[in-house]
Amino acid sequence: MTPESTRTNPRFLIIGAGMAGVMTAIKLQEAGLDNFTIYEKAETLGGTWRENTYPGIACDVPSHFYSYSFALNPDWSHRFSPGAEIQAYFEDVAARYGVADLIQFGKEVTRCAFEGGRWKIEFADGSTDEGDFVIAATGVLHHPAYPDIEGLDAFDGEVFHSSRWNHDVPIAGKRVGVVGTGSSAIQIVSGIVDEVAEMTLFQRTAQWITPIENQPYTDEERAEFRDKPDVMQELRAAVTKAFTEGFANVLVDAESPMLQAIQDSCTANLENNVKDPVLRERLRPDYRATCKRLVMSADFYDAIQRPNAELVTEGIKRLETSGVRTEDGELHELDVLVLATGFEVDRFVRPMQVIGRDGIALDDVWKHGSFAYLAMSVPDFPNFFMLNGPNAPIGNFSLIEVAELQFAYIMQLVEQVRSGKGNEVCVSRQAMERFDAERKEAAKHTIWATGCKSWYLDRDGVPTAWPWTFDRFREDMSEPRLSDYEMK
Ligand code: NAP
Repeated sequence: MTPESTRTNPRFLIIGAGMAGVMTAIKLQEAGLDNFTIYEKAETLGGTWRENTYPGIACDVPSHFYSYSFALNPDWSHRFSPGAEIQAYFEDVAARYGVADLIQFGKEVTRCAFEGGRWKIEFADGSTDEGDFVIAATGVLHHPAYPDIEGLDAFDGEVFHSSRWNHDVPIAGKRVGVVGTGSSAIQIVSGIVDEVAEMTLFQRTAQWITPIENQPYTDEERAEFRDKPDVMQELRAAVTKAFTEGFANVLVDAESPMLQAIQDSCTANLENNVKDPVLRERLRPDYRATCKRLVMSADFYDAIQRPNAELVTEGIKRLETSGVRTEDGELHELDVLVLATGFEVDRFVRPMQVIGRDGIALDDVWKHGSFAYLAMSVPDFPNFFMLNGPNAPIGNFSLIEVAELQFAYIMQLVEQVRSGKGNEVCVSRQAMERFDAERKEAAKHTIWATGCKSWYLDRDGVPTAWPWTFDRFREDMSEPRLSDYEMK
C-alpha cells in the first residue's frame, strides 16, 4: 500500500455523485474512513435527478420511503414528491453532511485497472488516481436508449430524449409528440398536456396504469414531522412495509393472489376512467399487470382524453421534415418530438473500461450480459464493488434502501481487509455461478417472465432483476457469507 493509505485507513475511490455515491461518502466519513474522493463526470451531483428534468417528473416511490434512512425529510411536499425537490434534497444532504465539497466534478473515469494490488483509475482529462477500493455508484437507468427510427436527423423540429430534456425549446402552444408509454412518457404526457397546442402520444405497447393519489402534506403534517421525528419514522416504517409487502414482494411470485388485486385495480382504473370504448380498447394491454414495470399515474387517462391529445397506435414508419409518418401513411405534423424510449439497462459501469486481475476485461466477462453476485461483486475484480449493480432489486423498490444495505454489507468485507485477513476480496467463481443459476431459476417464477417484453429481460428473455423478495435481500445483506469470497 502506498503511503497515503494504510491497512486500517485504506483509500476509497467513489465513482459517481448520485444518490449512492453521496451516501457512500457520508457513511465512510461517519466510520472515520476519510481517505476517499468522489469523482463525478458532470458538474453537479444528483445522478438521475440531475438528468431527468422533464415536465411532470416525480418519484412514484413514496417520498418518506425514498429518503436516506439517516436523513429523513420532514419537508416533503407530497406523498410522491417532484423531481426538482428530490434533487434539492440530495444537494442539501450532501452539503449538511459535509461531503459536497469533497466531490471532484468534471472527472469522467475512462479506465479502472487492478494493478499491483491497487486500483489505478484514469480520467478523460488525462489525470490519474489510485486507491485500494473502488465503489462504483454509477447508476442503472443512465444511458438513454435512442430508438432506431429512420429519419431522426431529417426532422426540422426539435427532438430530444426524455432524460435530456431541452429546456431551451419552448413547448407552450406547440405540437408535441411523445414516443413511448413507460413511466417517463406517462408523467410527461400529464405534465405537458395543458401547455401544448397538440399532444400526440405514439404508443407501441399499451401499459397497465395504477391510479395513485398524490396528496400534498399539509403545513401541520410537516410541522409535526419536524417536531416529532418518531411520527415521521413510524410513517416511513408503515409506508415501507405497505410498499414492500403489498407490491415489491409479490412481483416475484407470478401466482400471488395479490397480483390479481393489482390487476383488478388497473382494470377498474381503465374501465372507469376512459369513456370512449374504442380508445379504451386501444389502451388495454394484452399482458398481465406488473409484467412490465407498473406505471403509476392519477391523471394520465384524463390527459389522453383531452381534446388536444391524440393516441397513435400505428407503428412509426419514419421521421420526416415536418413530423412522424406512421405505417398507415398518415403524417403527424409536429414541432417537437420527445423520445421517452427508455435506457440501455445493461451498461452499468460501462463505457468505463474496467480491468481486473491478470488483465481480464469486464467487457469480456459481460459480453453475454452483465451479472454480479448480490448485485455488487464480480469474480476477478477484487476490492471493486458496485452499488445497484446488475441483478439488483430495481424498478419496484427504493434504490436508496438497496444502496444503503449494500454499503453496510461491503463494509463488512472491507473490515476483513482492514483487520488483516487478506488484501484482496471478491466473490469466488463458484459462488458466482451458483448465485447466477439460482437467480435464473427463480426468475422463471416472477411476473416479469409471464410473456411481455420489457427492460427487465436480458437478451435470452430471462428477467435480470432480483427475483426473490425484498425480505430475502435484506437478510442476504445482513452478513456476507465469507465462504463465497476469495480472500488473498
Ligand atoms: P421504458 O419503461 O423502457 O419505456 C420506453 C418506452 O418507449 C416503451 O413504451 C417502449 O415501447 C417505447 N419505445 C422504445 N423504443 C421504441 C420505438 N423504436 N418505437 C416506439 N416505441 C418505442 O422507459 P422509461 O419510461 O424511461 O422508464 C424506465 C424506467 O425508469 C421505469 O420502468 C422506472 O423503473 C424508471 N422510472 C421511474 C420513475 C419514477 O417515478 N420512479 C419515473 C420514470 C422512470 P415498448 O413497451 O413497446 O417496448
